[in-house]
Amino acid sequence: MSFSVKQLIEDRWGENYELHDRHVNPQFVKVLRTIGFDKIYKRARGPYLYDKDNNQYLDFLSGYGVFALGRNHPRIKETIREILEMDLPHMVQMDCSLLSGLLAERLLTLTPHLDTVFFTNSGTEAVEGAIKFSRGATGRDQILYLKNAFHGLTLGSLSANGNPEFRDNFGTLLPGKEIPNNDLKALEQELSQKTYAAFIFEPIQGKGLYLTETGFLKEAERLCKKYGTLMIADEVQTGLGRTGRWFAYEQAGISPDLVCIAKGLSGGFVPIGAILYRREIYRKIFSKMDRCVVHSNTFGKNNLAMACGLSTLQIMQEEKLPERAESLGAQLLLGINELGKRYEMFKEARGRGLMIGIEFQEPKSLKLRAGWKMIHVAHGLFGQMIVVPLLTKHRILTQVAGHNDLVKLLPPLIIDEKDVQNFLQAFDQVVSDCHKFPGAAWEIGMTLAKNALSS
Ligand code: PLP
Repeated sequence: MSFSVKQLIEDRWGENYELHDRHVNPQFVKVLRTIGFDKIYKRARGPYLYDKDNNQYLDFLSGYGVFALGRNHPRIKETIREILEMDLPHMVQMDCSLLSGLLAERLLTLTPHLDTVFFTNSGTEAVEGAIKFSRGATGRDQILYLKNAFHGLTLGSLSANGNPEFRDNFGTLLPGKEIPNNDLKALEQELSQKTYAAFIFEPIQGKGLYLTETGFLKEAERLCKKYGTLMIADEVQTGLGRTGRWFAYEQAGISPDLVCIAKGLSGGFVPIGAILYRREIYRKIFSKMDRCVVHSNTFGKNNLAMACGLSTLQIMQEEKLPERAESLGAQLLLGINELGKRYEMFKEARGRGLMIGIEFQEPKSLKLRAGWKMIHVAHGLFGQMIVVPLLTKHRILTQVAGHNDLVKLLPPLIIDEKDVQNFLQAFDQVVSDCHKFPGAAWEIGMTLAKNALSS
């Protein structure tokens, strides 16, 4: 009997949540069911998801940033078809494949100060490698990182995570230290000890959407050089056009020693990641012929990922996606901040390009304050009061990110002005509903709070 994945999907349609409840992650299933996110999407195109009744959902999450080009981009699909048709000798391993060389060449045109690439299968693997290279190149062990930092969840990346809820319960991690974001005094105090292999940072933090200031980064670069610490820019989320530049660090006019990328690089179908770094560091790690694979992986340079990477960069350049992210992002940010002024629980919207955080704050009026207090029995619940109706009433997918009552927008870079307007209208309605206490919006919140306390 032949295998047909199409047939399989038809036969088992609708079993998604039961299967995950039984075999994958029942806690996650419980969360999705509680907040009404247990939808089954049937198809997707560009910035939209569709359910079986063909209802359209605007995707302002883009698979955590993976679908920068939108979903099922026809040219990426064509690249995949083309490469499969060619019967190429994939991953011979004891050879040098053309496509990985070409993607490395192409990527390095975007980072003229760097000249060497290591390919990985994910963002966290890129960060792991960058940490390992920094340790190997400097002979030092420690990693300096920022409060609220998120660099992935494998043990090395986790060691540079500035959120206790991720780190707790996993035993001893790599040596390192957390400092507050944008605190030059703390930075110099640590760096001057000359024990740090690397200082790792996200130009805009994915958790909490805190911006690392350009002045801080500029001075950090000088201090890192002075004290012999390498600078790792984690551009896994901010990279490849999202913030209006190819890389967000460009805004600060700095030249980090290592740059980690992943997510949007392959157009969404195939796992991918890369470390772009200096040859000087390469020489210290891969120092002799018998150390030529001292750091390596099996799938990193696979042809499918490499071809998709080349195709993605071509599309991003032709469609001017960084520029598009910059102008649409500015429109979106301005629109949210303008609307927000009318609402006392709105604090601010911040970000760059199409990476935006909307933060809420404790209200002054007594009635709303009572609701606010009740909802804060657990972290993140107020954000859910925004995110849940955005999806269930307005069919817009967003997420809560961080502990600061923050809703995050990470749309595909191909959205248009109509999508921006659609979001703004829905946002206005949802925030307005939250300012009516008691009211339906708060009932959702109270249900979530009850669930949070009982689990
Ligand atoms: N670094 C940053 C800044 C990220 O945002 C993420 C994921 O969200 C990672 C690293 C980890 O990437 P991955 O999930 O591909 O391992």
